[in-house]
Amino acid sequence: MSNEDRIAVVTGGSRGIGRAIALRLAREGFSVYFTYVGNEAAAAETLAGIEAAGGKGRAFRLDVSDLDAVAEFFKNEIKDAGALEALVNNAGITKDGLILRMKDEDWNRVLDVDLRGAFACLREAAKIMTRRRCGRIINISSVVGQMGNAGQINYVSAKAGLIGMTKAAAKELASRSVTVNAIAPGFIETEMTDALTDDLRAAYLEHIPLKRFGSAEEVASAVAFLVSEEAGYITGQVLAVNGGLYC
Ligand code: NAP
Repeated sequence: MSNEDRIAVVTGGSRGIGRAIALRLAREGFSVYFTYVGNEAAAAETLAGIEAAGGKGRAFRLDVSDLDAVAEFFKNEIKDAGALEALVNNAGITKDGLILRMKDEDWNRVLDVDLRGAFACLREAAKIMTRRRCGRIINISSVVGQMGNAGQINYVSAKAGLIGMTKAAAKELASRSVTVNAIAPGFIETEMTDALTDDLRAAYLEHIPLKRFGSAEEVASAVAFLVSEEAGYITGQVLAVNGGLYC
């Protein structure tokens, strides 16, 4: 048995779903290295939560769309820190707008963070994991990447792209026993969905068979399963956590 720390990297672990994932993976015995982009106080809260539960964690300010910074992070902070067993590409943003009014900068920023940033982390993690001949990569996509959504063409394209990336990477990395899966959450109670108007929230609820939004902890449970030994024969899949919204 190795005494190395079992490391899980979680991007965007300061708030919402990423925080729930960081706390859950710490409970599962991982040393959780999570990133955030600007919200220092929220990152400190996640770290305090991990430590209060007796877990190990570290917080890093890292914009995942900065490819050089991502490469530096994996090289300087992760490669020799222990055994990188899991990467959860969770960091994501929205900049909604209708097609005819979508600004180039909003298209680019969402694609840069949600898709290119995830690829940058996947590529760096894959370098380490393929050498170790094991590892689990989870990409947090979205139900809208499966079913589309008006007013979110940039975000939907990025989230659908993550599903394609998951399937391509699963095929390419399987020979090194690295599995790659996506989770597609439906509507989850976080600051991202706090921004919905009451009317929109009611309209969405009408279409969700379980008649409620999900919790960040319910997404974290799916991550915990996919990184567990029990999920060793699952790769290239999309696990929907959406209350039946899209099946
Ligand atoms: P959230 O509450 O808005 O949190 C976003 C997280 O991402 C924060 O930790 C934020 O850091 C980080 N982040 C933002 N831009 C970043 C960047 N450029 N580089 C690194 N980190 C960055 O979001 P959430 O609702 O928890 O969503 C988490 C993931 O689930 C996203 O990928 C989202 O698309 C996906 N998702 C969410 C829902 C939902 O209903 N909430 C549904 C389906 C999918 P700071 O705290 O520093 O800003």
